[in-house]
Amino acid sequence: MKKILLIHTGGTFGMVPTEPDHTLAPAQVQDHILNMVPEVNRLAEIDVLTPFNKDSANVGIREWDLLSGLLYQHWNSYDGFVIIHGTDTMTYTAAALSFSLRQINKPVILTGSQRPLSLSRSDARLNLIDAIELATLDLREVLIVFNQKIFRGNRTKKISIKSYDAFDSPNFPPLGEIGVTIDIDYTRMLKAQGPLRLEKGFNPKLVVIPIQPSLSPEYFTEILGKNLGALILLGFGSGNIPFPEPGWLSLIRNAQDQGISVFIGSQSIKGHVDLSLYECGQQALKAGAHSLQDMTLEAAWVKLAKILHQTSEPDEIVRKFYQDWAGEI
Ligand code: ASP
Repeated sequence: MKKILLIHTGGTFGMVPTEPDHTLAPAQVQDHILNMVPEVNRLAEIDVLTPFNKDSANVGIREWDLLSGLLYQHWNSYDGFVIIHGTDTMTYTAAALSFSLRQINKPVILTGSQRPLSLSRSDARLNLIDAIELATLDLREVLIVFNQKIFRGNRTKKISIKSYDAFDSPNFPPLGEIGVTIDIDYTRMLKAQGPLRLEKGFNPKLVVIPIQPSLSPEYFTEILGKNLGALILLGFGSGNIPFPEPGWLSLIRNAQDQGISVFIGSQSIKGHVDLSLYECGQQALKAGAHSLQDMTLEAAWVKLAKILHQTSEPDEIVRKFYQDWAGEI
């Protein structure tokens, strides 16, 4: 029987409604999961660890390093890993793990639920069973498994607050689906090119500004002096930003003069940012901005935070950003 390490980190999955107003808060579910969903014990031999138990809004760079270190420490003792995680920031953690653990040759599967395991009609049970079964297969990626879909973690976005169909992968079709059978497209899976490598560390000294029509860049000039390493502007459509008014190009130039790398993404969820299509993008390109291409904002943000931990040299930041580390670009 395959050996799986189940890591519980919190989220709605294990929460219970608390008095007086039924707000959901973390509970001690980790000791009971294998009894509450006993069928998983037929799929694998499972050990459970709970490094922390948090709403995922409270998960960040410290927890990402803790988790990647934990996986690295236990890597040779298990066939696969399942991480129960809050849905709110699951995509960030998935991206972080895919950038910290390089050349992985085992499944690392994140899942969670929109409704707590302890409540009727919960999606927690099925998501957990699916995740554990997948962790026994020959998969070599950090995946998000949710509502019977298998996604590359660093390509995924949380798209729904309430639906059980909470995630999507707008620029990279799901790697598989779970129905009567489990269907996986192994041809699009990553292939490890060498031994597992752990690269901990993130420096989140970057800011994201979603541009709105007629929004003045003046509100943001002061943040350029705050020791930033990178700035992400979210433009419209293919990455267009207002030009010539109200002065975003000057902000881009000023940022670069202060050693801040500027990237432009889109407020559209699907598609590839292409700054050369329209004058409003091309001017930003000429001013020295770079495009997020087809990356999710979440993956781009986490990747830049990792790069800024490694270097503050602008050319090096851009060079590393466009390297494909784990199928994220
Ligand atoms: N607030 C919760 C969390 O992300 C939401 C969930 O798990 O669905 O931790």
